[in-house]
Order: sequence, then C-alpha cells, then structure tokens
Amino acid sequence: MSLKYVPKDLDEEASEDLKLFRDKLLAKPGKGSAGKTGTWRLYKPVIKIDGCTKCGICWLYCPDDVISWRPREYPDIDYTYCKGCGICASVCPVNTIEMILEGE
Ligand code: SF4
Ligand code: SF4
Repeated sequence: MSLKYVPKDLDEEASEDLKLFRDKLLAKPGKGSAGKTGTWRLYKPVIKIDGCTKCGICWLYCPDDVISWRPREYPDIDYTYCKGCGICASVCPVNTIEMILEGE
C-alpha cells in the first residue's frame, strides 16, 4: 500500500502558501520612511492593464512595497510613495509596464 498526497483544493492551498509567504517570510520594505517619496520620481511606471497577466511579479520585486496585488487581481501602484526606480518594469515578464517621464 502506498500513501499518496491528494490536495483538496489546489487553488486554496496555493493561496494559503502565498499568504504565509507574504505575511511571514517576505521581507517588508516600508512605505515612505523618508516622507512622500513619490516626489523623488523622474519616471512614472504605468501599467498597461490590457497586457497584464496578474502574475504579481511586479508586486514581489518592488523594493518599496508600493504595489498592491492579490492573486487573480490587477496590481495597483501607490504613486505617493513610488520612487520610479523602474524595477517593476524590468521584471514584468510581458513588458506591460511603461516608464513615462513625469509631466508627459
Ligand atoms: S518604479 Fe516600480 S518597483 Fe520602483 S518603486 Fe515604483 S512601483 Fe516600485
Ligand atoms: S509583472 Fe506585469 S504582468 Fe505581472 S502583474 Fe505586474 S504588470 Fe501584470
């Protein structure tokens, strides 16, 4: 007789793992310990939602934790604190984040 692990609900378990990762294991950069850091920005990341696959990679890599994202949802950038570093745009696997010069 062999034992076989059969997950009850893969989606639910993946969601639980992600929650654990997000809440307990992921280092959390703080928003705006230097004030409203969005004023430092020269280039602004703009997500072209049509191309977004909701993968969450941008959320994972943003060093300032200013991208909100939940599984199966589109990400949202908090421009009050986004410094415009461009990391989100460089890691987006489908290149759907464009860095636009502020004021354009
Ligand atoms: S440009 Fe992207 S990665 Fe950089 S702070 Fe803003 S949202 Fe985060
Ligand atoms: S990395 Fe790109 S495709 Fe993935 S959630 Fe962010 S914007 Fe969407």
